[in-house]
Amino acid sequence: MKYCPACAAPLILKPCADEGDVPFCENCQKFYFDLFPVCVLAVLFSADKKRVCLLQQNHVHRNYRVLTAGYVKKGETMEQTVVREILEETGMCAVDAKYVASFFHEKSGALMAGFTAIAVDETFHLSSLEVDGAEWVRASEAHACLRPGSIGQKLLEKALKLKE
Ligand SMILES: [Zn+2]
Repeated sequence: MKYCPACAAPLILKPCADEGDVPFCENCQKFYFDLFPVCVLAVLFSADKKRVCLLQQNHVHRNYRVLTAGYVKKGETMEQTVVREILEETGMCAVDAKYVASFFHEKSGALMAGFTAIAVDETFHLSSLEVDGAEWVRASEAHACLRPGSIGQKLLEKALKLKE
């Protein structure tokens, strides 16, 4: 960051507690830390935890399924984002959003927080233009449906270990 987003003055580097030199606006007397998007990614389990909800998003991958994901809005907790995104993308109510692990997505520069959640019912009501399809897949088979080496696969591995 080179300029203050509030007053457009050039930022200087100023020592900030134990953070080292941080961009600082002398007009506003304010530090500016790195800004980057924060997303959530969720493994949505069926109520019996035997199946996982996978989405088809043709604009993301034609051959692989994806997990529910979305950007955190200002003022929202990540747990709320998980429930909102699941409702938006699948039409289902989810509960018990639990943090599992975080990942940094180099391509988009976003911090991704991985969660699990439990679906209250198992009927999809797809209305979102973002989603082309959704299905329940046995937990043991879901891994092979996700892109190899993807953050989704890594999160699923951790989520399944926690479930054991
Ligand atoms: Zn300023």
